[in-house]
Amino acid sequence: MNLARFPRVRLAHLPTPLEPLPRLSALLGGPEIWIKRDDCTGLSTGGNKTRKLEFLMAEAEAQGADIVLTQGATQSNHARQTAAAAARMGMDCHILLEDRTGYEHDNYRHNGNVLLDHLHGATMEHRDAGLDMNAEMEAVAETFRADGRNAYTIPGGGSNPTGALGYVNCALELMSQFATEGLVVDHVVHATGSAGTQAGLITGFGAMHAQIPLLGIGVRAPKDKQEANVFALAEKTADKLGCPGAVARGDVVANCDYVGPGYGLPAEDTLEAIDLFARTEAILLDPVYSAKGAAGLIDLIRKGRFRAGERVVFLHTGGAIGLTGYTHCFDMPE
Ligand SMILES: *Cc1c(COP(=O)(O)O)cnc(C)c1O
Repeated sequence: MNLARFPRVRLAHLPTPLEPLPRLSALLGGPEIWIKRDDCTGLSTGGNKTRKLEFLMAEAEAQGADIVLTQGATQSNHARQTAAAAARMGMDCHILLEDRTGYEHDNYRHNGNVLLDHLHGATMEHRDAGLDMNAEMEAVAETFRADGRNAYTIPGGGSNPTGALGYVNCALELMSQFATEGLVVDHVVHATGSAGTQAGLITGFGAMHAQIPLLGIGVRAPKDKQEANVFALAEKTADKLGCPGAVARGDVVANCDYVGPGYGLPAEDTLEAIDLFARTEAILLDPVYSAKGAAGLIDLIRKGRFRAGERVVFLHTGGAIGLTGYTHCFDMPE
């Protein structure tokens, strides 16, 4: 595996910190919990999509693109990081936003990621829930091309083999940090959605024979579907890297018991995770992804699936700016 072969633009502050969470670990009374701070990638409040965009935007540049298109939910962190990356590279950005939650709150529709999309100069259009959003985006891209623009399209979440290279890079970074710190890690846990993060990590771990179990906590799809999506993307990513067969189907594990009422809709344990991380460690989680991942981590510690004597790394994938779009979910005094 030789990641340097692939074109890449530098957009992220790397390496992101790897830090212990002593107060949260003591409170839960289970394993030693560490956090990998991919919420600190630096681009427009950070998050996991920035690593993927380093490879995707390099491809866009190589193709001579003057506009990038992508799609996501209204409060999409991916759309916001894409808008920021396009601004950095002097490209235009056009975003299709899908109304997946039905929330009518003003903050949800105009604050958080949506405000930042606008500030980075992206143009936006909206779609009702349930359409094939990648197909909608390709159709809009054709209208730009008919106007003479060179449009580069990025699938939802930046999850294709090019984007997943960003998380192969994260796997390399983690293994290097574990070696430097002399840290023996028993599990890595993170939120999984469009699958690129988990596919990239598991491909990188597989290619390095890391033998560290990776658990994705689902935010949308049921377990079978999520694991199949991750595995399919991991196989393509391994092929692209020149390491076919690096990932076995059994390496891909997702737990989708913490989705709650649905994508973008926090459950009670989602909000508890936000509260716990904020009060014990001053770490801000987001209600759509990272807090569902953390809710899974917390519950699995309480159930003894992760135990005292073990060491678990929680990969924080970012998204906290979305909290300002979800103010209606929190009880605040007048
Ligand atoms: C997109 C996102 C994820 C999920 O990553 P995928 O690569 O789509 O699986 C997790 N956390 C946050 C904050 C995200 O924005």
